[in-house]
Amino acid sequence: MRRYASNLVSILVFEHTVMICEKTAHFLSFSTKKTLLKKSRSKLHHKLERGRSKERLDVNAIDAAQPFDFEAKAKVVTDKKKALKIGIVGFGNFGQFVAKRIISKGHTVIATSRGDYSAVAENLGACFYPDIDDFCEEHPDIVILSTSILSTEKVLREFPFQRLRRNTLFCDVLSVKQFPKQLFLKLLPKNFDILCLHPMFGPDSGKGSWRDLPLVYEKVRVGEEKSRKNRCDQFLHLFEDEGCRMVEMSCEEHDRQAASSQFITHTVGRMLGTMELADTSISTKGFESLRSLVDNTYNDSFDLYYGLFMYNKNATIELSRLEQAFDEVKGQLFNRLHEIIRNEIFTEDDASPSTQGLQNSTGSNFQGGLEENLKKN
Ligand code: NAP
Repeated sequence: MRRYASNLVSILVFEHTVMICEKTAHFLSFSTKKTLLKKSRSKLHHKLERGRSKERLDVNAIDAAQPFDFEAKAKVVTDKKKALKIGIVGFGNFGQFVAKRIISKGHTVIATSRGDYSAVAENLGACFYPDIDDFCEEHPDIVILSTSILSTEKVLREFPFQRLRRNTLFCDVLSVKQFPKQLFLKLLPKNFDILCLHPMFGPDSGKGSWRDLPLVYEKVRVGEEKSRKNRCDQFLHLFEDEGCRMVEMSCEEHDRQAASSQFITHTVGRMLGTMELADTSISTKGFESLRSLVDNTYNDSFDLYYGLFMYNKNATIELSRLEQAFDEVKGQLFNRLHEIIRNEIFTEDDASPSTQGLQNSTGSNFQGGLEENLKKN
């Protein structure tokens, strides 16, 4: 009796599923739909009949894609159509980092670089082309330039653009923005779309989630056709989907803001990195933050850091401001120190400075001199 009831439930579930399929499979011609449904129906009824005679029924996973599930099949086809072919030029630290995430979103990645990264690419699920002509002839929808800032101009001047598709979307991920924007406008074919991007994170700071990490972009030139606009938006959506904080901003404004934030961060991180700060048994939270600042900046190549300085016209002034700030803080310390010593030197009844005190103010035996002056008083 229980078995019969379970078979009955299965039949009802099946009929309901067929009903849904009938409703949703509207994209097929009426005759095709009818034939396919008829076939699936008779197949399952045959199975049920067989099941009844053997007093068992094997319809367990009604949620899984069924042979008559046209919707699931159609979804696979549309998803494939949506996937972008993205080419990465410069498969170093950052190129690989970004490739990994793009692949995980279901897009195809091809890469090229000065060095040979075939094995790395294979591990990541990308295809590596040592020859840049071969890379271009794969006709990626989007090309991401991820070479060092310093080599950008050379790479672009030697790039075989003519082998790419006529309306390729060209973008960059350089940590400076005005420089590649100007170069792109000058050197890229007029029919290319241009998108300047700066993910404000890297392999260390964006190791886990990208949630709330800023991504700055400027759509420098995107053609009017719907397909070109969609392609650009689809690419940006990839970052949005990962939780990035999308910031649309001109390249010039980016450089102004990045000089006083990112460049200063890198400079301080590098300075502290040079000091080789070691962990201590009494490390404070603040000290741990400094150590993580070193981890997030010191691993980047010096080329990258130098590029932040050389190719952002606002960096020099920020470096001077940092230097001034350091001098000012140091000055505050030494002024107070000198004040204490002067108070010791110039007593009320003796207006002449003690030469010993002066020597001690700059010498290593300052403490001894101070004690002696105190004793005298
Ligand atoms: P990078 O030192 O700035 O660049 C290394 C890449 O540049 C490698 O792919 C290297 O190719 C290529 N390259 C260097 N000199 C070259 C030359 N003369 N000709 C051709 N290619 C050359 O380190 P990165 O961290 O990978 O950065 C790549 C880009 O991403 C930079 O523009 C950087 O500003 C940007 N970015 C980096 C981060 C980050 O956190 N690291 C974050 C955001 C944006 P080979 O390895 O084949 O030699």
